[in-house]
Amino acid sequence: MLKPTRLLLLGAPGSGKGTISRKLLKRFPQLHSISSGDVLRSHISRGTKIGREAETLIKAGSLVPDSTMIGLIAEQLKELGGLNGEASWLLDGFPRTLSQAQGLTEILDASGADLNMVVELDVDQEIILQRIDARWVHLPSGRIYSLDYNPPKVPFTDDVTGEKLVKRDDDNPETFSKRLLVYNEEVGPLREYYETLGTWHRVSGDSSDIIYPKVERLLLRD
Ligand code: ATP
Ligand code: MG
Repeated sequence: MLKPTRLLLLGAPGSGKGTISRKLLKRFPQLHSISSGDVLRSHISRGTKIGREAETLIKAGSLVPDSTMIGLIAEQLKELGGLNGEASWLLDGFPRTLSQAQGLTEILDASGADLNMVVELDVDQEIILQRIDARWVHLPSGRIYSLDYNPPKVPFTDDVTGEKLVKRDDDNPETFSKRLLVYNEEVGPLREYYETLGTWHRVSGDSSDIIYPKVERLLLRD
């Protein structure tokens, strides 16, 4: 990765965006990541106004309003110094509607830091549904564990802090199916938008171990 990379990871809930992000950050230390879900969960745990509004929506598997999300991510990008042509970063979970994508383009156009790659993680949704039951998280850091695929060293305990792992409120079968439906509704227009801009790529596979090397190759090629 020689030139600045500004990457969007698109993919259904549970498709491994968080896991792939973590691996990319390790491999490319100049990258910074922003996960919209983690940003929202941090607001919830701090009890902010945005957090209180988001909590109900997240629990129901619905989306937080576009204007709220665009404001939040613009703020995060500013904070990490991401709004200049030399910055490298990746976004996980935002934009996830066409209107958010247009909002992001506006913010970036004004800054000279264009989004130069969109990667859609394509994982069989039957497999995602089988996997979700095994997912546990460390909420303060966003670290994700799978009891099958990358279990913590000590059961139900975060490897780094030793704190307890929890199930996300929205990782129950009912809410999860709703999130998948919402994703499938929104992704078409988003895909078309980035296809037209010429930045869209798709990477398929049934596990992050298969998908990750393909994403890494895309980044190294550019
Ligand atoms: P996973 O993290 O399992 O891959 P996900 O992408 O659905 O799944 P998060 O990104 O953590 O999960 O998002 C959790 C919830 O936060 C979403 O279901 C939605 O309610 C809200 N949310 C996150 N990002 C956005 C966004 N860009 N626009 C609207 N709502 C969002
Ligand atoms: Mg996530």
